[in-house]
Amino acid sequence: MAKVYIDKDATLDPIKDKTIAVLGYGSQGRAWALNLRDSGLKVLVGLEREGNSWKVAESDGFNPMHTEDAVKNSDIVIFLVPDMVQRYVYRERVVPYLRDGMDLVFAHGFNIHYKLIEPPKTVDVYMIAPKGPGPIVREYFAKGGGVPALVAVHQNYSGKAFEKALAIAKALGATRAGVIETTFKEETETDLFGEQVDLVGGITQLMRTAFQVLVEAGYQPEIAYYETINEMKMIVDLIYEKGFTGMLKAVSETAKYGGFTAGKYVINEDVKKRMKEVLDRIRSGKFAEEWIEEYNKGAPTLVNGMKEVENSLEEQVGRQIREISLRGKPKS
Ligand code: NDP
Ligand code: MG
Ligand code: MG
Repeated sequence: MAKVYIDKDATLDPIKDKTIAVLGYGSQGRAWALNLRDSGLKVLVGLEREGNSWKVAESDGFNPMHTEDAVKNSDIVIFLVPDMVQRYVYRERVVPYLRDGMDLVFAHGFNIHYKLIEPPKTVDVYMIAPKGPGPIVREYFAKGGGVPALVAVHQNYSGKAFEKALAIAKALGATRAGVIETTFKEETETDLFGEQVDLVGGITQLMRTAFQVLVEAGYQPEIAYYETINEMKMIVDLIYEKGFTGMLKAVSETAKYGGFTAGKYVINEDVKKRMKEVLDRIRSGKFAEEWIEEYNKGAPTLVNGMKEVENSLEEQVGRQIREISLRGKPKS
């Protein structure tokens, strides 16, 4: 079993006198800036433009500044702008002001692992990757808890990079749950694989396809939505809290028998083979190359994909069903 670092294994000492620049104030940026500030650390918010994030940061009591000003005035620079933007921010706003002994910190290994950012040897490079979306990282912390995280060290110029990564994890609330060590390579490849075949790609496609099969067979879309999409949360909550065994114990004998048989028929060896192909594309760097090219074209696949999802029957029906479901959800 991997070693799990908890609150008592980490101290804020290695970073308590440092100034931390949080670059970006979106999903993770806002959560990190607020959690680190609430943990007593000195945080500057650095932004590229006086847009929406700027206003949100101000209303949270920060004095946002342009990225280069945050970099000039800090010891630790945390990259929380989108992965595809990080290398431009690094090249234009960080490199000119980078001093020996500074720290470059990431929440995902993409830019370092695929060598889009290649820092000089004289800085520490490490990662704290929260295993949850930014708003949850903030919400759990504010309620006294924390979202687990992975930490990794890419460059250890100071000899203290790991201790500093744990310190930031602690200030984020992650050690209240537990922190596990990884590498940039492992985090990047597993993160991409998980979101592609399972969390974002796989599960969405599984639910939507199941919905479509029922609707095309003439069943009411509302009933199909309940069965193939809405109930997923309850099943996943059971798995999250009690494992597959706990979930299986909560469903009927009939569901267990049907599940064991049809599950392996639908998600068969062929699917596994294609999952391996997806992993190969990630490991070879082909996926990264393709995504950068797509992004540079204005990301038409994202634009069209969002439109297609938003206009789909499952989304239209979903709006109504979610209203019904949320009405019944206990308040706390
Ligand atoms: P977001 O997409 O939420 O970042 C938005 C922020 O970046 C805003 O402040 C926005 O400013 C700024 N921004 C967006 N586009 C540009 C641009 N073209 N130029 C300059 N600034 C821009 O990022 P995330 O929080 O999702 O991701 C940050 C990092 O965290 C990534 O490395 C990601 O992989 C990692 N991560 C994210 C997780 C998540 O849950 N989202 C989970 C774990 C890791 P403005 O308002 O002005 O547009
Ligand atoms: Mg992830
Ligand atoms: Mg990811």
